Amino acid sequence: GYRARSAYKLLQINEKFHVIKKGDSVVDLGAAPGGWLQVAQKLSGGKIVGVDLEGITPIPGVVTFRADITALSTVDQVKDALGGDADVVICDAAPNLSGAWDRDHAISIDLARSALEMAKKLLRPRGNFVVKVFQGDMFIDFLNDVRREFAVVHAHSPAASRKESAETYVVGKKLLSAPVRKGD
Ligand code: SAM
Repeated sequence: GYRARSAYKLLQINEKFHVIKKGDSVVDLGAAPGGWLQVAQKLSGGKIVGVDLEGITPIPGVVTFRADITALSTVDQVKDALGGDADVVICDAAPNLSGAWDRDHAISIDLARSALEMAKKLLRPRGNFVVKVFQGDMFIDFLNDVRREFAVVHAHSPAASRKESAETYVVGKKLLSAPVRKGD
């Protein structure tokens, strides 16, 4: 079994979009309690690094530490732990729900933007990215920003997500390298 039901969402996303392959190095942002880490390890068997504000009960073969994904210093900490570029960056980070949807949406978009910035710094060229966002009026701008950075982009609402949660996973495949980046 997995530590979190969200594990099945990542399995479903990977079945559909083939984001994580055998041997890939994977960085998981907002990884506690560790369900996605377990799935990433099963799918890749490669180097896995997970960070969260909360502690993560150790998983053999996975490096985890506490860090804020909105802090610039976290990029260097992850790079050190990884010892190279990442093939895949995944992010399921979410705010504690306040119930005020606009507010929760705004924080979710901020977290997703932090994840995108980290992905641009951590991923190898043509690396892959998955990020969760709560739907709302800032979603389209964020999606367009992801489209500028990746050759192929999908927005996916897994069947396992409850309707009321309005979560969408944005999948970016093949990070574009700077010279060919669209819109430059
Ligand atoms: N994918 C995980 C799993 O399968 O176990 C579940 C992740 S849970 C839905 C969202 C996580 O995002 C929480 O553990 C929360 O602490 C984390 N989070 C929220 N804001 C964060 C931040 N600024 N930096 C790091 N983690 C953050």
